[in-house]
Amino acid sequence: MTHYETIIGLEVHAQLLTESKMFCGCSADYADAAPNTHVCPVCMALPGVLPVINRAAVEKTIMAGLALNCTIAEEAVFARKNYHYADLPKGYQISQYELPFCRDGWIEVEAKVEAEVEAEAEAKRVGITRAHLEEDTGKLVHAGAHSLVDLNRAGVPLLEIVTEPDLRSPEEAHAYLTRLQQILRYLGVSSADMERGAMRCEANVSVRPVGVGEFGTKVEVKNLNSFKAVRQSLEYEVARQIALLEAGERVVQVTMGWDEANGRTVVQRTKESSADYRYFPEPDLPPLVVERAWVDAIAARLPELPDAKAARFVAEMGLDPREVAVLVADRAVANYFEAVVSAVRNPVSSRNRVSKYAPKTVANWITGELFRLMNAAGVGIDAVQITPAAFAELLALVDAGTINVNSARRALDGMFESGRRASDLVAELGLAQVSDAEALAGVVAEVLNRYPAEVASYRDGNEKLFGWLMGQVMRATRGKGNPAVVRELLDRALNVQR
Ligand SMILES: [Zn+2]
Repeated sequence: MTHYETIIGLEVHAQLLTESKMFCGCSADYADAAPNTHVCPVCMALPGVLPVINRAAVEKTIMAGLALNCTIAEEAVFARKNYHYADLPKGYQISQYELPFCRDGWIEVEAKVEAEVEAEAEAKRVGITRAHLEEDTGKLVHAGAHSLVDLNRAGVPLLEIVTEPDLRSPEEAHAYLTRLQQILRYLGVSSADMERGAMRCEANVSVRPVGVGEFGTKVEVKNLNSFKAVRQSLEYEVARQIALLEAGERVVQVTMGWDEANGRTVVQRTKESSADYRYFPEPDLPPLVVERAWVDAIAARLPELPDAKAARFVAEMGLDPREVAVLVADRAVANYFEAVVSAVRNPVSSRNRVSKYAPKTVANWITGELFRLMNAAGVGIDAVQITPAAFAELLALVDAGTINVNSARRALDGMFESGRRASDLVAELGLAQVSDAEALAGVVAEVLNRYPAEVASYRDGNEKLFGWLMGQVMRATRGKGNPAVVRELLDRALNVQR
């Protein structure tokens, strides 16, 4: 069988987090609103109205363009994209065509490459053809024999980001979307929430025999509303196109939709070309001159992006890159981690001073214990009521030997549940560690008396029983024995009384 190469380009639409819509003063926050309550003559396209450009939407577009390494236009033009659909009251959408705000950018994604030995992650650069600003359409709600129109969404600012055909597999497409979502969230320009429709994706996909220079006929797959849908539809479409070519047939250029229930792509319509949209410059809006000073001011406000943050965590804190990837995936998690590290370094009281707790320990507690609790409760970091200072106090209690790690986990459970302080919970639950050698020696003697056969077996050379006996002593202290002290006492008792 011929080997085929997959060629994928993605178009992503992300709603911008502005207070008002793109060309009118209606609130863009329509998620929980009753239908047709966030509307006015402009976004309902009543006769005689004129659009006014939303400055915040343009700033967020430029901000995204800078983060995507794009060239920012000195002059941008809005254009009318003409088509007829029931959710588009004007009969055209104000978009951008020849002069978008941003072009010729790139981002790096982690791409799995097929290596000789094993699959390993490698950074791959994906070209961004353009990023432009347009308005969202309304929405049709199908109810029985009728379709209802809701114009709350009409005119919400939409950032469209188009890649070069640089992606070579559904996995790479998935990795690109993940990275793009992360960047948009770091910038705070979009919630980029696919499940809630704030980020939507279309893919252009084709295949060609390996070694052939020109692209195969591409198919556009629309309405991809989840990461899963993107991956599954691309896998399906690649297999479908290869099967056609193998059977000696040809791929027809069409627009497909993804039928999630049946796991297949279905033809929606034959592909329209840009000529069908009869683009022309929007006569109601003048070209927008983008002054360099404005772009520079926006660039100065760019937050630290995921790659830079990850590199800093590795360099400054000596963390493992894989661990860092987990911490920086979500900006709020990264901020929380840094706040705990800072609280550990600068404790509120001298009693909370920690001697040996390095950022690595903080990272382990957050990605291990805290994530476990968040997953179990199904909440994100925003819902965690443990303040960074309270987290630092817990680590200080472990460091001081007041509680052992097991007890610290129990205290953290309580802190997560109630937001109370570690020291209060330690006192209330009686979690304080027993380090008193005299008291612990008594427990050790008791355990050795209770299990004479195991003790004899250990002394005959069955060394594995040491751990078991250690476990019995710890259980007898209800987990509160200082493990180091217990180990030493047990060792002495077993090996001296020989
Ligand atoms: Zn409006």
